[in-house]
Amino acid sequence: MCRHLAFLGPPTPLATLISAPDHGLLRQSWSPRLQRNGTMNADGFGVGWYAADDPLPARYRRAVPMWTDQSFADVARVTSSGAVLAAVRSATTGTTPDEAAAAPYTSGKWLFSHNGRIDDWPRSAEDLAATLPPARLLALEARVDSALLWALVLHRLDSLDSAADALAHVVTAATAASTGRYNFLLTDGDTIAATTAGDTLFWRSDARGTVVASEPSDDDADWHEVPDRSLLVATPHAVDISPIHPAETEAP
Ligand code: GLN
Repeated sequence: MCRHLAFLGPPTPLATLISAPDHGLLRQSWSPRLQRNGTMNADGFGVGWYAADDPLPARYRRAVPMWTDQSFADVARVTSSGAVLAAVRSATTGTTPDEAAAAPYTSGKWLFSHNGRIDDWPRSAEDLAATLPPARLLALEARVDSALLWALVLHRLDSLDSAADALAHVVTAATAASTGRYNFLLTDGDTIAATTAGDTLFWRSDARGTVVASEPSDDDADWHEVPDRSLLVATPHAVDISPIHPAETEAP
């Protein structure tokens, strides 16, 4: 399924993170190395980033393959940020192909991405959808499993203390309701929270900052793989990984 990436660190050109690396997100859009499901990520892409002195992120999303968008190449060359979340999309069957379905999703300070799928969508998602207030369902930006999962995360962000708790709760609820894959990335520009549930995730942290990504963007030896069913919390200088414990993440 899709490939995604989050970054925290010193202001860095988007191109340095996304298009310049030998196996960065741009290359992963047509030739991912570790993708288990699907072969290409040509159904759109999105990049969200934070500018200095503005807590709300900017987004650039398109429904076309990243490699066809020369305007993005220009934007990425001249735009630097210290907090970025980006994704290239391989659309799940039966979901909308529009730009509105391309991650990252946003609300206020948050950026969110889902790498995976709810199997047998939309039938199997009825139980999950039923836990949401109707207003949140009506506010879904697109008809896609990831938008429903984002609504569930947002709903939990209202009641749980941390982004990590909200993600762990939704992974637990989703895996109980339906088989599927639930690798999430969530950031507010200061911290990254991520989950692994069915797909790959790697991280690297050094003087250039911290990157959390579906797969390494180069052959450096300092990429670390995250075990399945983990919760990762990252700052520009530190990464913490813990198992997702269903019992500890029940709703209050
Ligand atoms: N299910 C999501 C979508 O259709 C994510 C797909 C993916 O991870 N490839 O966009």
